[in-house]
Amino acid sequence: MDYDVIIIGAGAAGMMAAAVAGQRGARVLVVDHAKAAGDKIRISGGGRCNFTNMYAGPENFLSQNPHFCKSALSRFGPWDFVEMVDRHGIQWHEKTLGQLFCDNSAKDIIAMLLTEMETGGAELSLKSEISRIEKARDGFRVTANGRVLTCAKLVVACGGKSIPKMGATGFGYEIAQQFDLRIVPTRAGLVPFTFQGALLEKLKSIAGVALPARVTAGGTGFDEALLFTHRGLSGPAVLQASSYWEEAAPISLSLLPDTDLPAALKAQRQAKGGIGMTRALSEYFPKRLAALLAEEFAPDGNLADQSDQAIDELTAKLRNWKVTPSGTEGYRTAEVTLGGVNTDELSSKTMEAKSVPGLYFIGEVVDVTGWLGGFNFQWAWASGVACGQAVAQ
Ligand code: FAD
Repeated sequence: MDYDVIIIGAGAAGMMAAAVAGQRGARVLVVDHAKAAGDKIRISGGGRCNFTNMYAGPENFLSQNPHFCKSALSRFGPWDFVEMVDRHGIQWHEKTLGQLFCDNSAKDIIAMLLTEMETGGAELSLKSEISRIEKARDGFRVTANGRVLTCAKLVVACGGKSIPKMGATGFGYEIAQQFDLRIVPTRAGLVPFTFQGALLEKLKSIAGVALPARVTAGGTGFDEALLFTHRGLSGPAVLQASSYWEEAAPISLSLLPDTDLPAALKAQRQAKGGIGMTRALSEYFPKRLAALLAEEFAPDGNLADQSDQAIDELTAKLRNWKVTPSGTEGYRTAEVTLGGVNTDELSSKTMEAKSVPGLYFIGEVVDVTGWLGGFNFQWAWASGVACGQAVAQ
């Protein structure tokens, strides 16, 4: 047997599992077709890596089985990762909503994981094209760059399909299918919405405008920034909601949800009722957006012409602006892939496939997807640790 454990994928989950298994005495090899380890970590969080979220809990994840992630997350939480970050002297800060970022660079996290792997004696083989995986009597045979490698345990940490330009593939799902494991259909998550036709033209006219909003899709709403773009809608609130969106369904935009607009407009009417509705709205909204909102929703006349009821109706419309995306930008720009290896097929304690002893799936390839804000890395770390401990036993 060449190795105790071969891990396919030197991303967040694979590197963590390799470090943990290696430090517990397992002979580990990590293979990846990319030129460098942790490419997604490098570009994450605008180059500063939002490496976890202080408040990460099972409620921040989407999965057909919302209970599956509980075990791993409870055994390796955000503060366990912070302890590792601190041990490596990496400076960090909370940006907002519990999101922890490196002060310096995401590369610090990659260097930390590589050092942890080295400490455990884990080997790393980059630019490795895997052409074949076979089950052997006492383990697995992996053919990488034409060379057959044997291992007792095989860990699939190939990530999802998002950003194919960076080497993302559906290889992990193919391996699952090869071993007859069920897959929850995959789709792009944490992704901007696209629009068509007249609505797109309107949105284009306000491209670049951003404001606080609550964006609701599939009954779940997120209060964060909303950004109008040349293709449609983006910004954190939109990315979050996109994971809950079902094709062809409308989404609801509640603009400035924390501002008491009816009271503000009524007070303004008292003070300077002679102004037009665009001007009135531009007290609260960026000018171009105010013009569009006035055209779309405001009744005729100046502010002074509006009854209390008319103001209430107008603001109700601004609190529930229903728009129907034509689609999303897809895997090209998506931060994550929803769906993946069906969690019913895996042990939540070890990530091992129930029907294929010795085969493990961790990270994004599994049907566990986090919200925006450090949750996806937290799942990668937690599932990596759970698996790393199990394969070293
Ligand atoms: P990955 O990190 O994607 O690693 C998979 C590895 O498998 C890669 O190295 C890949 O090269 C390798 N691989 C794939 N196919 C093959 C194959 N056929 N053969 C060999 N190797 C293969 N999450 C956060 O929590 N915080 C953030 O700030 C954040 N920012 C992000 C920014 C962007 C632009 C993107 C795209 C994602 C971001 N994410 C963020 C999500 C996060 O990067 C992923 O959820 C996380 O990297 C998943 O870890 P993983 O180890 O499962 O997969």
